[in-house]
Amino acid sequence: MIRNIIFDWSGTLVDDLPAVWEATNHVFSQAGIPTLTLDQFRAEFCLPFTGFYQRYTPHVPMAQLEEWFHGKFRQVQHSVEALPHAREFLQFCRERGVKTFVLSTVHREHFALQNRKVGFEAFLDRPYVEIWDKRKKIHDLLAENALVAEETLFIGDMEHDIETAHHGGVGSCAVLTGYNSVQQLRSARPDVIVEHLGELRALLERNAMELSAARGSAARVPSTVREPARLPATAPRPRGRRTPPGARFPSARPARPAAVPAPRARRP
Ligand SMILES: [Mg+2]
Repeated sequence: MIRNIIFDWSGTLVDDLPAVWEATNHVFSQAGIPTLTLDQFRAEFCLPFTGFYQRYTPHVPMAQLEEWFHGKFRQVQHSVEALPHAREFLQFCRERGVKTFVLSTVHREHFALQNRKVGFEAFLDRPYVEIWDKRKKIHDLLAENALVAEETLFIGDMEHDIETAHHGGVGSCAVLTGYNSVQQLRSARPDVIVEHLGELRALLERNAMELSAARGSAARVPSTVREPARLPATAPRPRGRRTPPGARFPSARPARPAAVPAPRARRP
């Protein structure tokens, strides 16, 4: 039975994609490289974001990138809003006595402001923010809160979230309300994929809060994913890259087709 839920923040509880895309393109402009279309950004952005910037702006120190990004983000984050179904899902957790956590890369200043705006503070027991690599924190989060991995579900919108869930030995649910496409998320092999938190709520209600798929039970909860209209026809399910038990961090993500401008050469 699921008694604890760890939420990613961006793309899972709030929609900050337009603001993050705009702030990222501001960084690219400042760094003197071509900006990305929204589709390119969604295809290319990954966590930990240090890897993303290493690919595109290896010539710029991280402190400078951070300054550009957060400066712009403060100007545009008024567009950040709660995602549909998020509030109802958090209320559902409260009604069921489910403990709630946030595990996110989001800057604590942005998180505090957004959390106040959307009014989720009362629904979240303990946030862990400014976590650049969630795989390095998941075990601490479980230990510090005495959470049983088998009773814990991690919900996120990116491959890194699913990899983190696997790394921590907890259940994983991918939502299609954020950054990564269904194809990307499938490649990370979550236990279940849903379009949004409303669908997950219905799934949990139907299964008496059991996400048996999460622990490899025979009674696997089927993925109820449907292809979003904006995506092309379903591709064959890719071979999984699930982290083997006991493995350290999985290898770097595979190279993608050269659909975006190549970053400039590294400075000597
Ligand atoms: Mg996210």
